[in-house]
Amino acid sequence: MARFFSQTRIARSDSSELQDASVLVNDEGVIERVGPGLDAPEDAEVLDCSGMILVPGMFDLHVHAREPGAEHKETLSTCAEAALHGGVTGMVLMPDTSPPVDTGNLVKSLQDLISESSPVQMLVSGCLTKKREGTELAGFFGMANRDVAMLTDSDRTIPCPDLLRRCMEYAKDFDLLVTSHCDTPALTKGGAINEGHVSYRLGLPGIPAISQEIAIDRDIRVAQQTGARLHLQQISTANAVKAVGCAKEAGTSVTCEVSPHHLLLSEEEIEDYNTHFKLDPPLRLPRDVEALVAGLLDDTIDAIATNHAPHTEFEKSSDFGSAPFGVTGLETAVLALYDGFVRKGVFGWDLLIRKYSDQPRAIVGLPAVRIEEGQRAEFFLFDPEGETEITPDSMKTKSPVTPFLGRTFSGAIRETVLG
Ligand SMILES: [Zn+2]
Repeated sequence: MARFFSQTRIARSDSSELQDASVLVNDEGVIERVGPGLDAPEDAEVLDCSGMILVPGMFDLHVHAREPGAEHKETLSTCAEAALHGGVTGMVLMPDTSPPVDTGNLVKSLQDLISESSPVQMLVSGCLTKKREGTELAGFFGMANRDVAMLTDSDRTIPCPDLLRRCMEYAKDFDLLVTSHCDTPALTKGGAINEGHVSYRLGLPGIPAISQEIAIDRDIRVAQQTGARLHLQQISTANAVKAVGCAKEAGTSVTCEVSPHHLLLSEEEIEDYNTHFKLDPPLRLPRDVEALVAGLLDDTIDAIATNHAPHTEFEKSSDFGSAPFGVTGLETAVLALYDGFVRKGVFGWDLLIRKYSDQPRAIVGLPAVRIEEGQRAEFFLFDPEGETEITPDSMKTKSPVTPFLGRTFSGAIRETVLG
């Protein structure tokens, strides 16, 4: 049945103004008409959307869906539900499943599984090295033939710069994007949170900022030398933003992402050894948070990506030092960013859509999603007058672990419409 979204406002990436309009989606899920003063067709279901905002579906470049291999944490199906609940209609899955996605056949079998399990677009990424072991090249040729979105060893750094160079040379030959998590294991060692006064006070081993910064410098150098396209994940320090800015000025083909957590929280927020604040990279200093927001506004930072990394409450309930890194993000990203930035006027819906919908899609070669006639319906209804309390029961992910648990955000996502 056709659906008529009456008297609403549309958010767009190319305008800071919301556009007054009604939207008719036909029974094939295609946007048939958009405009002010439209009359609802007699055979359509009419939804009064006055006060609501229609926002294009978001796209997350950095998701760990855990299937196959760790279905106790998350499955493709629960990951898709969480995404729709958070206004996210597309994503790239990291290859750190069990087995790791390192051949064309494994890419194909995961793509088949996705088409059976998920209504949400899930692009598959592949490993740079076999089994993510950092010793031999993975099956680039087969994976390129299966249209992988990017190649990455996920949260493992390739230890040998010469092997990284060969990875980038091959990636360039196949025109594949190389994605790096940016960590220097010799510096991160057994660290749990940012190295600084909070780690000293809590008596926890620290991860210094240079652990990320040295890796970024190295990976940018190798990208410059090979000409490969490089994407840097989860930028977390002021110097990291500076390094990416310099590389861009020098004409390097590099993009980077930041998480909502690193834009909104610093190490100061870590309280009572709460493992819901244990992230990789760790939450940094307030001045790093300021630099990340500035980097987002001045376009040094291209994209927002959550690093949705579910672990069960049981796994996260061990002590801070031994609990796994990572939290979920798909369901809280839009709400947290709206509450923390859009509502306060730091930036508008236009920038949020550019950074969490248009540019992430562009990085993996997809067109932007628009709420326009002729396009497939792919948007969510946002109620700026509503509010959303983040509780385990309110979440669709299998592992409702997030530093935002217990928070109440202004705004509510009422529905995500997908085709
Ligand atoms: Zn990750």
